[in-house]
Amino acid sequence: MGLVDSAIVRFLPAVPKPVVRRISERYIAGEELDDALVVVRRLNDQGKLATIDVLGEEMSSPAEARAIAAAYRDSLDAFERGKLDANVSVKPTALGLKLGYDLCKENLDGVVARASELGNFVRIDMEDASTTDDTLRLYRELRAAGHDNVGVVFQARLKRTLRDIRDLAELQPNVRLCKGIYLEAPEIAYRDFDSIRASFVQALDELLEAGCYVGIATHDEWLVEQGQRLTSARGLRPEEYEFQMLLGVRPAMGDELVRGGHRLRIYTPFGKHWYAYSVRRLQENPKIAGYIAADTVGRLIPGRNGSS
Ligand SMILES: Cc1cc2nc3c(=O)[nH]c(=O)nc-3n(C[C@H](O)[C@H](O)[C@H](O)COP(=O)(O)OP(=O)(O)OC[C@H]3O[C@@H](n4cnc5c(N)ncnc54)[C@H](O)[C@@H]3O)c2cc1C
Repeated sequence: MGLVDSAIVRFLPAVPKPVVRRISERYIAGEELDDALVVVRRLNDQGKLATIDVLGEEMSSPAEARAIAAAYRDSLDAFERGKLDANVSVKPTALGLKLGYDLCKENLDGVVARASELGNFVRIDMEDASTTDDTLRLYRELRAAGHDNVGVVFQARLKRTLRDIRDLAELQPNVRLCKGIYLEAPEIAYRDFDSIRASFVQALDELLEAGCYVGIATHDEWLVEQGQRLTSARGLRPEEYEFQMLLGVRPAMGDELVRGGHRLRIYTPFGKHWYAYSVRRLQENPKIAGYIAADTVGRLIPGRNGSS
């Protein structure tokens, strides 16, 4: 779906929150850590790995950002106790980046240190372009401090990405490669579908060439095929790369990857700050107009959608 052209995307902020909540339930594990642990256990039982996202963006106070960092440390402890195969994905703004670089760094250091103690891993999500430089700086500083259990994300949508990959190549970063969800200005980002796909394939090729472990994060069937082609052309073993998908998006395609012997990690968000994440997911769902219509009809006609 073209994010840019879609009328429904512009309309979404006007949809009442309870409706957004109902139709986005498939994308969110729940509000509490225990909810997320149930989902992670189920994914592990299906042969899938997980990465947890404690929902929260653009924190308004240092205390809130510290609470998110604490929730991440608790999640890591819970994975250890429950012997779950899961790591964490953190958003710099949730750890306080917009309140101050040092606050975010301190929070991130704490999460990475806990993960190190437990032999676990921290992925630093990539947010909109206003945060790219700071996010890469956080990553470099962690690596310079000797933390190897941390990874970055590159967005194929951004024109700077190939340059960033080349700049970081000597560190052989552990990378998640995705298209990039944030709509950026045409001066800095590709806007059309084919250019973003081409950029994704070139970035993946360069990352694999540099010997990086890559999380190929997409639900685009064609890109999944390209991922399989490029990894098998290099003779990579299944433990030398992984595919990644979002909870609730194209699960049948994920099952097929697992059956094919690939590692698949499911991005599993939980927490009370579910709204911004849900809206982004709904904006990408080609069936969103139908869902909203069905939900609206369901509320207008008693007995439908469990609304009686
Ligand atoms: C594990 C993971 C982590 C990510 N981390 C980041 C990050 O750190 N920073 C960032 O900017 N972006 C991140 N993204 C989002 C990513 O950049 C894309 O916005 C998103 O994955 C959609 O792009 P796509 O490659 O799946 O291709 P698309 O062309 O958008 O989707 C391919 C097909 O998948 C289906 N599909 C996609 N989304 C949905 C949906 N919500 N509901 C139903 N069907 C859908 C549709 O059938 C669509 O045609 C992440 C994505 C994944 C999978």
